Amino acid sequence: METHPLKLAVQAHAKRLGFDACRFASAQSPPHADAFRQWLAEGKAGEMAWLGKNADRRTDPQLVLPGAKTIIMVARNYAPAGPSPHPRTGYEIARYAWGEDYHEVLTPRIRELEEVLAAQGGRQRSYIDTGPVLERDYAVLAGLGWHGKSTMVISRELGAFFFLGALLTTLEIPPDAPAVDRCGRCTKCIDVCPTAAITGPQQLDARRCVSYLTIELKGAIPEELRPLIGNRIYGCDDCAAVCPWNRFAKASTEVRFAAQPFAYSWRLRDFLALDNAAFRELFRDSPIKRIKRRGFLRNVCVALGNTGGAEDLAALQKAASDPEPLIAEHASWALGEIERRSGAAKQAAEPLLPA
Ligand code: SF4
Ligand code: SF4
Repeated sequence: METHPLKLAVQAHAKRLGFDACRFASAQSPPHADAFRQWLAEGKAGEMAWLGKNADRRTDPQLVLPGAKTIIMVARNYAPAGPSPHPRTGYEIARYAWGEDYHEVLTPRIRELEEVLAAQGGRQRSYIDTGPVLERDYAVLAGLGWHGKSTMVISRELGAFFFLGALLTTLEIPPDAPAVDRCGRCTKCIDVCPTAAITGPQQLDARRCVSYLTIELKGAIPEELRPLIGNRIYGCDDCAAVCPWNRFAKASTEVRFAAQPFAYSWRLRDFLALDNAAFRELFRDSPIKRIKRRGFLRNVCVALGNTGGAEDLAALQKAASDPEPLIAEHASWALGEIERRSGAAKQAAEPLLPA
């Protein structure tokens, strides 16, 4: 039974702030420091150049906060209450983007947690997914979960749908015990990946991951990967959704993560009518605003190219002359794909000539 007074105070405050878990790791080098450097060296981070630029900081918490003794890891569940609305909408947005931007929801809360430690004389730094910290390593060290074969952290209590936050402090607080790996012989996440981006247990080639292709990649999506993206227009969470440990997770109580109408009630082609102002307005509170209109409409064109039909041609033809070349090129590709499909369908419907 935990008796360290500061630890108990931080955990109690984290709970009041809505965090579902709050656990502690010592501020040592992350266990995957060498593997992370190797992954970067192999180019598997793709265009995420910032990961390489601060690799030293990511592999040494003392460079992030000199004198750091403890890394406090918090988690907030975002598991939706109901089934996915996507069979109705015909497009998919990853669950982490159905609601408000989690950076904006959770950053003020972790900053508030800093104040508890500041009152005890600590210096702090905290991050929600944006800092130079290998959060997943520390989440595992702190026992919040284990490294799933998907490379996500999986929790016995929260499953796979939770956001992580990291708070570094110069205060020494006893660490928690790491979690046991409970993937066993399961390979569901590897098997379900639409692009074979999980190349082995805990091995991700980000360049093939739909989340990377539709969010991080700024330019054209490689043509050979476009068909594999299917109808996903922002991120992918198939490897998380399939994880059997989700059956123990409860629906999130965070109303700000509830699905907004754009996540389930639009028609794909109607997104193409968004100009810059309408795009900014629609996604004002959403993480989707980060990829800007050009990135989002690029993704919509790819999804239409994979799933669209005759009823989408007019919207795509208009998009093919969009002043933004990235959108225009992806719209032209989509038109070609729809034409190719309809040509193949016509051919299949033609009666065979008698022998
Ligand atoms: S997010 Fe999607 S594309 Fe990326 S590794 Fe998981 S299943 Fe594969
Ligand atoms: S789907 Fe299976 S292998 Fe993948 S993280 Fe979950 S338990 Fe582990």
